[in-house]
Formats: sequence, structure tokens, C-alpha cells
Amino acid sequence: ASMRKARIKRTKTVCTYCGVGCSFEVWTKGREILKIQTDTEAPVNGVSTCVKGKWGWDFVNSEERLTKPLIRKGNEFVESTWEEALDLIGEKLGHIKRKYGPDSIGYIASSKCSNEENYLFQKLARAVMGTNNVDNCSRYCQSPATAGLMRTVGLGGDSGTIKDIMSSELIIIIGANPAESHPVLATRIKRARKLHGQKLIVADIRENEMAQRADFFIHPKPSTDLIWLSAVTKYILDQGWEDKDFLKNRVNDFEKYVASLEKFTLGYAVEKTGLTEEELVRLATMIHSAKSVCALWAMGITQHMGATETSTAICNLLLITGNFGRSGTGAYPLRGHNNVQGACDFGTMPAWMPGYEPVQDPQVRERYEEAWGVKLPEEPGMDNHHMVEGMDKGKLKALYLFGEDMALVDANSNHVEAGFERLEFFVVQDIFFSRTAQFADVVLPAAPSLEKDGTFTNTERRIQRFHKVFEPLGESKPDWEIIKEVANRLGANWNYKHPSEIMDEAASLAPLFAGVSYERLERWNSQLWPVSKNGKDTPLLYTERFSLPQGKARLVPVDWTPPFVAGEEYDLHLNNGRLLEHFHEGNMTYQSEGLIHKVPHPWLEVSPELAHERNLEDGSLVGLTSPYGHVEVRVIVTDRVKGKELYLTMNTREEIEAVNRLTSSYHDTVTHTPAYKEAGVKMELLETK
Ligand code: SF4
Repeated sequence: ASMRKARIKRTKTVCTYCGVGCSFEVWTKGREILKIQTDTEAPVNGVSTCVKGKWGWDFVNSEERLTKPLIRKGNEFVESTWEEALDLIGEKLGHIKRKYGPDSIGYIASSKCSNEENYLFQKLARAVMGTNNVDNCSRYCQSPATAGLMRTVGLGGDSGTIKDIMSSELIIIIGANPAESHPVLATRIKRARKLHGQKLIVADIRENEMAQRADFFIHPKPSTDLIWLSAVTKYILDQGWEDKDFLKNRVNDFEKYVASLEKFTLGYAVEKTGLTEEELVRLATMIHSAKSVCALWAMGITQHMGATETSTAICNLLLITGNFGRSGTGAYPLRGHNNVQGACDFGTMPAWMPGYEPVQDPQVRERYEEAWGVKLPEEPGMDNHHMVEGMDKGKLKALYLFGEDMALVDANSNHVEAGFERLEFFVVQDIFFSRTAQFADVVLPAAPSLEKDGTFTNTERRIQRFHKVFEPLGESKPDWEIIKEVANRLGANWNYKHPSEIMDEAASLAPLFAGVSYERLERWNSQLWPVSKNGKDTPLLYTERFSLPQGKARLVPVDWTPPFVAGEEYDLHLNNGRLLEHFHEGNMTYQSEGLIHKVPHPWLEVSPELAHERNLEDGSLVGLTSPYGHVEVRVIVTDRVKGKELYLTMNTREEIEAVNRLTSSYHDTVTHTPAYKEAGVKMELLETK
């Protein structure tokens, strides 16, 4: 027995399925995963995980994995050697850069990949290729939250930790579904209620699990959150309930902000949001009565045309009531992907160097120019949205993308695919042959987290180490190695032998990570940025100062953007989101037998009223049509949704078309995040069950 035990390998890793950042050990024998073993020492989750963390790893050994580079020859892909594929990439990207200039190439990074890989990728774009055209998929989800935070309190991260959320007297969850999207965080909130009677307010257009558990659930009309948030803030001010000391000592621009609230009366809010006056007053009273309030939000806020403004309105409400800088208070956008926080932190954004220093700041550029020995581009580059527009208009000639299935996850996918067709050269690096890969010229086989070393940063700003369990499958390679090879083909001379060297470099250049190192991240240790040189980290932000001039927060006037209306014939409102068993588009979780068994397909939720009116029952097949495309899907009838509001799960499988055939290219005006949650559709019954 001891011989057998000796062959069992135990490796600490970090889950790749959401921003909560659970860590655990993977027990393996050869390439077989025996079990996921939790540990009380794990800083976020202790002994908890959800189904995805526990059972979602079969994809690593899937026969569908890419194991060799592929090169397009006409309409076919043929296997090639690494030499051949990398030479071709070097030659083509080099040629396009010389012919059309550095800004003719775009770089899309991955929020599923490590901090080190994202750092290296932005370095490739900036230092080797001379462009700031680099972005990551936070553009599809959390950029408006980051923008709202940076305007008001200064840093694009959660104010505190999950422990702070637990210790709060009142939690407000707006447009988020943590019971399915951030399950272990949701269990912490459930526990806090039992432990100390924490109160819960949920605002959503779908009655999700946390809504059912809430002390108070409100269902405003879609896209009207900014209005009720501002009306509640105004009501609090009208009652004299604001935190006067906090506002006096720690916040700027109070007068200007108060003047801007004039129109947000209770009457106006009742008319626009459909909430009653009693509901609005009850919200204000609950917030006023709680000693500490945390606000949590996600895609239900950020995937709208006015998303940055609404995120700002949430921060304004917290500032007016003095809910920052103490345990149990603050703003918590819930990061979706495991490393959406880290991808942004480490600089895969067109206007920011690693650690959120502006590319336009000459002193910042100078520091990097000296270290890297190059001249850096001075102006912000294209974001994802501009890149899609650029492909359309013929301005963007080539794209290098890793760990992102853009054809599936970007809004208005027909438009995106048409853009891919126009590219002169397209490199896709992934673990599977994704839908996006179908449009590529070269497809490079990458390795998932279990086959490499690195760090991820969770929604709390917590940097955690994950370790290599297996060798990369077949000829696949870790993304950082591939990026290094590509850079070297394009004239760099990079010699990184291990991701720790990449982190050391990032820490030496970006003050936010000054004291981050692999030695300090051993075993279950973690560090929450900002980390000072001596290794001291920062679990709770803004205890003394906000990260803005004078150390003071800023109240920012906001304005409401009415939702996008597709046209009268598109009479139904289509919402979409995750479900517990599947991750995002589903390309990893649909490889797991256990998860497929639980949930084999996506579905459409329809209200009992609408089902009655349209003669639908569970299992009916319907066609949904928007001005942008068409999807066919089966129905379940549920009172989680009301009236003409539909809910489509956003994962998809094989032949089933995904929700983004239906979504438009309309977007948040500040960050260009698509308004995924504002689709208008019409529905026809195709087949009863
Ligand atoms: Fe993974 Fe998130 Fe589930 Fe934790 S809660 S196991 S990080 S998917």
C-alpha cells in the first residue's frame, strides 16, 4: 500500500472557474486525476469548493485537446512542427508591421491565463511590436466596474476581502448571481447570516437563489439601476442621514454631486424603475440603519450601455453613507474569470501599463523604456471593440489571440466573424480548437493551468501560486513559453526559464507589486496588492487614504442612459448568464462527464404568463430572432423570470448557437463593454415537446 501511495502526487493549484480563487490539492497518479483535496489552510475557501472546482477537470485529458501546431492550407488545417509555425508567425507579423505599421496588429490576452503570461503578452505588444493595441476579456465584463471605481476611489479592485464581506451588517447584491457564478462566496454570505444575522438586499430582474434568500428583493425594470441607486442616495441626503464626518474629511466634490441629484426624486424613480415609493424608502432605511454596508455587483450592471455610470452610482451611494475603509464596507465587483483581475493588473489593457500606470505618463514610460531598452508607444491603443471595428474597416490587418473564444463570447458574433475573414493573418493559441480557431491561419496548442507554473489574482486582489501537475499534453506548451518564442522570432532576445523570473521583473517595475515574489507565495501563502517592497500586503483598501489626489475620494455626478430598443417587433427582453454547472461558453466544462450528466444543454427560461400566452411548455422548441441573428433553443417555464423577460444560459454546446448571435454591437460609452444584457428579440414556437 505504501508503494502505491508513493506514486500518488499531490500538487497545490488554484481553481480556474471563477474569480473567487479557491485553492486545493490535486491528487494524481500518472495523468489520472484521483481527487481534489481541500485544506483548511486555503485562504479563500478552506474546505469548501463548488461542483466546477471539484469535478470540472476532465478537459485536461480530453482527446479534443490540441497537441500540435496547425497551419491553414487553403480550407484545411495541417499539422506542423513548432519551428515551422513559429517561423511563419515571425515572418508574417514582421511583414505586416513593416508594411502597415505597428498599430495594424492587435493582441488579445486571456483572463484564464496567468499573471506572468499576461505580463509577457503586453510586453510583446508594447516593447517588441511597438503598439498599445492590447486588451483582455475584462472588456466583455468588468471594465465598467473598474472605471467606476477608478473615478471615485482610485483603484480598480475590490475594497476588501471575502472576510470583510462576511463581517458586514448589510450586503447589497445588484445584478449578480453568486449562488451560481461565485458559489463559495455565496456560501460565505449564507453563513454570515447564520453567524451574526447579516442582512441581504438583492436587486435583479431574475429571482435567482440569493434573491429567494434575501431579506428584501427588488425587481426594477431592466437597465434602470442607476435611477433607483441615485434616488435612494438623494433620499438619504434629504433625510440628513449622510455620514457628515466622512464626507468632510475624506471626500471631494460633494456640492457639485448633490446638485446633480436634483432630478432623481422618488417620483421620477417610481416612474422609470417600476419600484414603489415604499420599496425605495425601505432600501434607504435599511442602508442607513446598518453600521457597515458592502455592495456586490457583476454583469447585470456592467453589460449595459450606461454601465460605468451605474458602477459609479454604486460607489457614490457607499461614499455618501461612509461605507469605505472599514472592515465590512466597500465596493466589490465580482470578477468572473479566475484571472480577470490579474490580466488587467498586469497590463493587458490599451491605456495602462502593469499596475494601472497610464501609458501616457512619460515618467512611467521612461522606467519601462530603460528596463526594456526600447522606445514605447505613447498613446493608448485599440481595445477589443476598436479591434473588431478595425477589422471591419480594414485598419487592423492581423490579430494574435490566446485563451479566448472571441467568436463565441463577443457580442454580435456574425459581425465579429465577418471581421476575422478580412484579416490578413490571424494567430489563435488555445487548448482546444475553438470556434475562433476556425478563422485562424495558425493555431498553437497551449497548456492549461495544471500543466504549468504561475500565479492568478482573484476578485479580492489576492495573488496565489499554482503549480505544475503534469507535463504539457503532446507537443502543447505553456502560454508563456509560446509568447516568448514568438517574441524571439520577432527580434526579442528573451531568456525567461521559469515564470518566477517574469514575476520578479514585473515586481521590479510596477510599484503595486513591489514585494510580490514566488518565495512569499509558497504553499498556501498569498499576497493582496498593493504589496510594498518588504512584502507587506493590503487586505483592506482606503483605511487612511483613497488612491486619488489629496488621498480623497471623489463623488462623481452620473447620468442615465435609456436602454437600447431593437424595434417594436422585438417585443421580448432577453437576459443571459451563467449556471452553476458550466463555465462561461462551456468549452471546458462540457468535457466533463459528471457536469454534462447534470446539465446536458443550454435552455431558455420563460415566465408562466408568457408560456400561457404563447402556448409554451417545458421542452418546447422556440426560435429567437433579433436584428442580428437567430437562435433555436428549448424552453423551461419558471417563475424566476417575469412577464416578457427571458433568460438564456450563456454556455453552449456543439451545434447549438449561442446567445451572441442575438446581441448587438451597442456598448457602454466609456469602456466599450457590450450591452449583452440589453437584447430585444421576437420568439416563434417551432415544436412542442
Ligand atoms: Fe472554483 Fe469558483 Fe467554485 Fe471556487 S467557487 S471552486 S473558484 S468555480
